[in-house]
Amino acid sequence: MPPARTSATRRLRRPKPHPRLGRIPEIIARLDDAYGLPEWRPHHDAISELVLTILSQNTSDANSGRAFVRLTEAFPAWDDVASAPLGVLIAAIQPGGLAPTKAPRIQGALRDIKERTGGYDLQFLAGLPLEEARAWLRSIHGVGPKTAACVLMFALGLPAMPVDTHVFRVATRLALIPERAGRARMTPEKAHALLEAQVPPQDFYAFHIALIKHGRRVCTAQRPRCPECVLRDLCPAAAVFHPELAGRTARLGGDRRPLQAGGMVGTSPRKTPSQAPPTGV
Ligand code: SF4
Repeated sequence: MPPARTSATRRLRRPKPHPRLGRIPEIIARLDDAYGLPEWRPHHDAISELVLTILSQNTSDANSGRAFVRLTEAFPAWDDVASAPLGVLIAAIQPGGLAPTKAPRIQGALRDIKERTGGYDLQFLAGLPLEEARAWLRSIHGVGPKTAACVLMFALGLPAMPVDTHVFRVATRLALIPERAGRARMTPEKAHALLEAQVPPQDFYAFHIALIKHGRRVCTAQRPRCPECVLRDLCPAAAVFHPELAGRTARLGGDRRPLQAGGMVGTSPRKTPSQAPPTGV
């Protein structure tokens, strides 16, 4: 089942949605039609999800999955991972990339959790108010908003929204989150609360999965296929990437600056890779 509206959710104080975000229900409905409604079921317990998410930082699902399998084969228990010589752990998770950074992060998190709870069972978090559970996870060194949200959503079925590269890119192009946070660039880390405030909690899981599928299949980083996109008339970026769609796409009023292809997350098809700004986050 997708994460349902819970008492924890009702206790949340969410920022008021910005008026320009009135397209959300239609966007959700079209994504549901395009990608279906996924059924929520946990693939891992919470501690495994946490370790897997740390392994997934800055790499593909395939690589992090390989690293996770190797880790669990090399170390039968979490205590073994926590106390392993660092070099041995680094070697075990090498396929996940950035192993010298991730290995101490994983050990630090495991040791911290063991010290605080006496073990590695994080199921108790499901019984806490959502923001309390999130804060508990965020207080672990190396656990950022995405890792915390992955544990809450995927393992515990709570309404949290992980913002990964695909979710961030598509949501930014759809203008669901602004390109800037004050004077600084918007980042996926900062986008979590903004996006969660716009989407009904019961839709978080399906929305997250749909945006990832959409980002991989249609709204790709380099060449978004806007003419085929089910959201093209709702998306202000469509005319930026495909000028032939101008006049048939969403226009946002209010305080939004005119969209510039170079300023969008991802790149304009008119740019060559060497000219393009960095993609993803
Ligand atoms: S219209 Fe283009 S930029 Fe907008 S969501 Fe669809 S593919 Fe992405």
